[in-house]
Amino acid sequence: MPRITSGRPPTLAGRALLVAVTLRPAFSWAAVVVMLAAQWLVNALLAGAGVIVPHGYYVPVLFVAGRFGHLSALVVAVVAGALAGPFTYQELATATPQSIAEWVTRTAFFVVIGQGVAFLARHARPGLQAAAALAVAERELLAGLAGGELRVEYQPVLDLPTGRLYGFEALVRWEHPDGLRGPDEFLPVAEATGHMREIGDVVFAEACTQAERWRRAAIAAGRVPPTVAVNLAAECVTSDDLVPRVERALHTSGLPPELLCVEVTEGDVVADLEGSCARLRELRRRGIHVAIDDFGAGQASLSYLHRLPANVLKLDRSFVAELQVRDGDARPIVEGVLGLAKRLRMPVVAEGIECEAARIQLAEMGCLFGQGYHLGHPVRADELDPAWVEQLPLPGEPRPTVTADRLPGHW
Ligand code: C2E
Ligand code: MG
Ligand code: MG
Repeated sequence: MPRITSGRPPTLAGRALLVAVTLRPAFSWAAVVVMLAAQWLVNALLAGAGVIVPHGYYVPVLFVAGRFGHLSALVVAVVAGALAGPFTYQELATATPQSIAEWVTRTAFFVVIGQGVAFLARHARPGLQAAAALAVAERELLAGLAGGELRVEYQPVLDLPTGRLYGFEALVRWEHPDGLRGPDEFLPVAEATGHMREIGDVVFAEACTQAERWRRAAIAAGRVPPTVAVNLAAECVTSDDLVPRVERALHTSGLPPELLCVEVTEGDVVADLEGSCARLRELRRRGIHVAIDDFGAGQASLSYLHRLPANVLKLDRSFVAELQVRDGDARPIVEGVLGLAKRLRMPVVAEGIECEAARIQLAEMGCLFGQGYHLGHPVRADELDPAWVEQLPLPGEPRPTVTADRLPGHW
């Protein structure tokens, strides 16, 4: 996911520049034309350059220097110089023209000041433009959140040995008026602006309510209810109110905690490893499952397997992709991870299974659970095949399960 930094300008000048870079180019040029015309009217038609000194021309020159840079500042400085020079009397009442030396000197000042400001603003401009774009994206996201445009899709997780449905992973989507947006398109904005907890609340509430509906449907059909897994953002795991927020979603929906799993990545917990582990342990104590997501992606560290109070391991889809294209190279690594997880009594969910060959290989290697486009795409709850309940296991049927008993030694 691309990282976005907020980079808010600290000073008044910075804030003015931020406003300038937020304006659309066409609007900015229109504003410049208005500023030049207003100053010309004041000087040329009301008094003359000698009566009212035409310092107002500096405003459009400075604005353009900050907004667009050197070339635009040069053009506006020369236009301003011309308007304030040959096109303006020295004194309107006596129809006295200006001396050439006077207006050329003034034009030179416009040029020098414009170029100086463009030079000073050259480093700040890209950061300010990013900050302005982020402010606009944040406003749009908040409007989407308030308008209930965020919703959840569910991707099935299957028992690989039996092919039965084990549960679903909840994946957030934004039903934007311009089209459906995936998490990679808006979660970086929410992360950079600190709105991940609000999004987490929406996803937890919707996923738990949906899972409770599924639980009732499964029980009515005499089947084992499916679980639901919700991704936790770094902002959520590292914040003190994680446990009450998750509890609230469970309480409101009536979902039993053992049907909920939270997914965290190693990167999400590094900022506050101790606190995050304590909060996740609290969730485990309440019966909620904790999965390490995307295991093996990025800077995977084996020490997290031992330190995080997790009882499920999700094997990153890059391993499964390797398995699908270059069987020979990836197989020993996947076997190694599966062996390690087995010793730790952690069931593994393989992510990104895109073909039958990969499903068979993973099942043969002893991987208990799988998820991927080959097994089911993420869909809205109302788009699920109505026969989904029949994919759930019958009580007492032999099947892999995730138990709460996987407790690291230091617990
Ligand atoms: P993730 O938790 O690892 O979710 C799995 C991602 O892999 C999903 O992408 C899913 O659509 C995609 N996927 C599933 N099967 C396949 C496959 O066979 N091949 C390929 N190439 N991809 C597959 P999605 O929905 O775009 O989500 C991307 C990431 O955004 C998630 O990765 C998760 O880290 C984050 N995310 C999604 N929803 C939430 C949320 O509600 N809260 C938070 N904090 N993060 C979320
Ligand atoms: Mg996940
Ligand atoms: Mg994942």
